[in-house]
Amino acid sequence: MKISFLGGIREVGGSCIAVESSGDKVALDYGTRVGEKAPDRLPTDFDAVIISHAHLDHSGRLLDLSNRNPVIVGSKITRDITTELLLDTIKIQSLNGNSFYYTEQDANKIERAWWVRDKIALPKMSIRLLPAGHVAGAKMISIQTEGKEILYTGDFCLHDTEILVGSRVENLPEKPDVLIVESTYGGTVRRPRRELTDQLFKQILKTIEREGNVLIPAFAFHRSQEMAKRIDQAIESGVLPKYNVYTISPLADRITEYFNSYKHLFTDEVRKQKRPFDYRHVRHLYRTQQIREPAIVICTSGFGHAGASLHLLKQWVDNADNSVIINSGYLPPDSPLNIAREKGELTDNGRVISAKAEIEQIELSGHADQTELIELVKGLKPKKTFLVHGELDQAEALSHKISGISEVYIPKKKETVEI
Ligand SMILES: [Zn+2]
Repeated sequence: MKISFLGGIREVGGSCIAVESSGDKVALDYGTRVGEKAPDRLPTDFDAVIISHAHLDHSGRLLDLSNRNPVIVGSKITRDITTELLLDTIKIQSLNGNSFYYTEQDANKIERAWWVRDKIALPKMSIRLLPAGHVAGAKMISIQTEGKEILYTGDFCLHDTEILVGSRVENLPEKPDVLIVESTYGGTVRRPRRELTDQLFKQILKTIEREGNVLIPAFAFHRSQEMAKRIDQAIESGVLPKYNVYTISPLADRITEYFNSYKHLFTDEVRKQKRPFDYRHVRHLYRTQQIREPAIVICTSGFGHAGASLHLLKQWVDNADNSVIINSGYLPPDSPLNIAREKGELTDNGRVISAKAEIEQIELSGHADQTELIELVKGLKPKKTFLVHGELDQAEALSHKISGISEVYIPKKKETVEI
């Protein structure tokens, strides 16, 4: 059996791993790298392409397969949200006046090529999808072939969050021959989630007391719904006072509808509610002009580099009464939000705006941190472990911690190993 590490290697973005044995060849994920202009060509001759979850760094290259009659395998919500995100990508490209090769029909072809399955058998391979706890519908992928077992984690999380149950090590295959594991936070130990949510509410309360605005840039898929639900519940239970709270993102609004339809994917608490993502204290708006200040606004883009979040950042960042909460662990270095945080100012069409608002990074992540990554490797005891989906320093830090449990490799991009 051969494993080729095609993308998302020693970096986050563009995930794709090929597994080939006795004539069967599958891809695990088929993702894009954010902002990449001329991506490397990925092979297209797969018997099946298995998608772990709907983030575009795992699924965004699927359009390249739209004319090749692919077999795409993944969960139902992953299919639906991936299609929404691909359609959105096509729309943004045409709005920006770029000549983009793909059309809506191509995104629809991908949707139709999708096999919603938890198990699939190829002549010489059997494949199972197991809960990964990272975002709604996220799966790990287990492959059995030639008497060996491979487990690919995709992005995963062991701890429960407000809306999603974490992956359980005891439900995963023990002693796989090969574990291919993400290492995004391989060198990072996070504070307990409880402390982070307390810090979030404290920051919001502080801002409410001075009647300021709170801007929370968030991704349209999952992080936006999770944050809205968290704040909605905090107001309902009296942890936060009543305040104007809004979400602004047509895409996030469409995705929220899927969350209501697929409520069985979430925690017992969420499933009990009739339409859990119809919030009581959070309103959906279509335009920033509809905001009644002071307000808490959850909006896209998640990095604060476009859309409503960029617009509000420029409008609110010069006022010390306001707060900006960075929800993501990573910000592109050239994003205006990162520049505001690092330099204390940002420029807008040549005008310099001084960043007086409090900018706090409170990362309520859906990824395993180093402690959880070690817990997974200790629990599974794989023979060989390959670290992917992480910068080299993060992968190396994790490698030091687990090399006593498993043979650890940090593959190079495009490297092929024989198992
Ligand atoms: Zn992800």
